[in-house]
Amino acid sequence: MILLDGKKTSLEIRQELKEKIKAYMAKGHRAPGLAVILVGDDPASQVYVRNKEKACADVGIVSKSFRLSADISQQELESLIQKLNKESEIDGILLQLPLPKGLDSQRCLELISPDKDVDGFHPQNVGKLMLGLPGFRSCTPAGIMTLLQRYNLDPAGKKAVVIGRSNIVGKPLALLLLQANATVTVCHSRTKDLTKEVLDADFVFAAVGRAKFVKADMVKPGAVIVDVGINRTEQGLVGDCDFEALKEKALAITPVPGGVGPMTIAQLLVNTFGAYKQHLDL
Ligand code: NDP
Repeated sequence: MILLDGKKTSLEIRQELKEKIKAYMAKGHRAPGLAVILVGDDPASQVYVRNKEKACADVGIVSKSFRLSADISQQELESLIQKLNKESEIDGILLQLPLPKGLDSQRCLELISPDKDVDGFHPQNVGKLMLGLPGFRSCTPAGIMTLLQRYNLDPAGKKAVVIGRSNIVGKPLALLLLQANATVTVCHSRTKDLTKEVLDADFVFAAVGRAKFVKADMVKPGAVIVDVGINRTEQGLVGDCDFEALKEKALAITPVPGGVGPMTIAQLLVNTFGAYKQHLDL
């Protein structure tokens, strides 16, 4: 069994990025900049934001954080985004989701300038993904594709099943897999015979949000299993797949934690560097 080590791979990507950024700065360019907006005090979001800030600092991206109170108005939040859109030293804007009740996240995401949309959530970037045009890709799916590439696991011509159809993981992942020439099936809560679909897959991607949802008897021997889930349970962080049972059967599998999570953060840094390069060329 190959352990798809997202932690190790993400550190390699971060090291490569660090060197690229150093080289740009040695030529006299400014450092890349990422604005991180966190509204309210959701504990999981606070951890994610802290990890993203640390990762930025590690590679030489300047992160500028805005920690806002949960009672901020929609208008105030929108004004901040508009201000950041104009700031020349800010290459990327990250709005940590979910927003507290009463704030319209879709409106905010649509306000972020598409060239600073390093999370890849703006409809313009989503549309570009759909069309196969260059643009920012959602970090979790893009990070997963990089992880597969780094382990030489090519889904071309293979059957891929994605469980979950969210806008941030399932749908964009299905499109990236299609672009990579996989034959893609997307399953969700209304799928009739989920086990039958998953049993047929060479590549299984679980983005369900239910602890140990994918069991050993649901996958075929030799499948590649990518576990996106992060579920907080009494036993600690658990993925959407029953890792212990599946590791005997899989050709390759991601652990939780240490699989997709660190790749998501690495992709955010890659996207921010991409935005930076585009902005320097302007
Ligand atoms: P959502 O809750 O938005 O989507 C879950 C999807 O799973 C939905 O499409 C839903 O179907 C489907 N689903 C739920 N129950 C079943 C079921 N019984 N059978 C089949 N399908 C089902 O979650 P996200 O996509 O945002 O996240 C999924 C998981 O990934 C979560 O654990 C989240 O924490 C984690 N995550 C991890 C990231 C990382 O960096 N590692 C990043 C983002 C998310 P339907 O559409 O029909 O409701």
